[in-house]
Amino acid sequence: MIELKTEEEVELLRENNILVSKTLAEVAKHIKPGVTTMELDEIAEEYIRTNGAIPGFLGYGGFPGTLCVSINEEVVHGIPSKDRVLKEGDIVSVDCGTLMKGFYGDSAFTFAVGEVDAQVAKLLEITKESLLKGVEKAVAGNRVGDISYAVQQHAEANGFSVVRELVGHGLGRKMHERPEVPNYGMRGRGPLLRKGMVICIEPMVNLGKREVNFSEVDGWTVTTRDKMPSAHFELAVAITSGKPDVLTTFSFIDQILTERK
Ligand code: MG
Ligand code: MG
Repeated sequence: MIELKTEEEVELLRENNILVSKTLAEVAKHIKPGVTTMELDEIAEEYIRTNGAIPGFLGYGGFPGTLCVSINEEVVHGIPSKDRVLKEGDIVSVDCGTLMKGFYGDSAFTFAVGEVDAQVAKLLEITKESLLKGVEKAVAGNRVGDISYAVQQHAEANGFSVVRELVGHGLGRKMHERPEVPNYGMRGRGPLLRKGMVICIEPMVNLGKREVNFSEVDGWTVTTRDKMPSAHFELAVAITSGKPDVLTTFSFIDQILTERK
């Protein structure tokens, strides 16, 4: 059973996802060489609590942070640490969740730290574009596979590879609901999209090969097997009979990044 949300529930999800969007923008202000991933985590936690929510990831499955902060070859689920320092040329994926009024928010963005290699900059651009290609397909009457295919096609057409082991998901009173939303697949396959479904689309795209390792050291961090960089962007979308209703926005982040140029 895939749960359909009422309009009121979609609005509560929107509130959460706007707060996540703003939290990521707050984090964006502080992304520069020399900052630790723990400092970013503290900034996010304070911002979320000040705004009347609680961090959605903290304690989720035992996760110890407010943010997942994943640098370079780390794909997702990096644990914030006072010993991890951002340096010029890194990329850093920041994934953030909130819980407020009984519903979750969940979004991710990958930032360049200072100047990055041209190929790495292209990886960020194409991963974000792949996400947006997927969002375009998130309308009632399509199937999950239409989203999956659109994401995969754009990433692979640009020479990158798509992580298979981790997928997008439904979002609601639980962080991870049905359906799963893979970033690879076939058009016309998978669950039918219906008005009232809310899903997170979140491509993880690798510069090199698609294979990943799951850390046996900290139990969380996922890294590329070939140690090449990986990017991750995530938006939450409510399915309507018309245009996709994107509950999250990168506009707050874009504003900060533009001001910093
Ligand atoms: Mg997320
Ligand atoms: Mg997610």
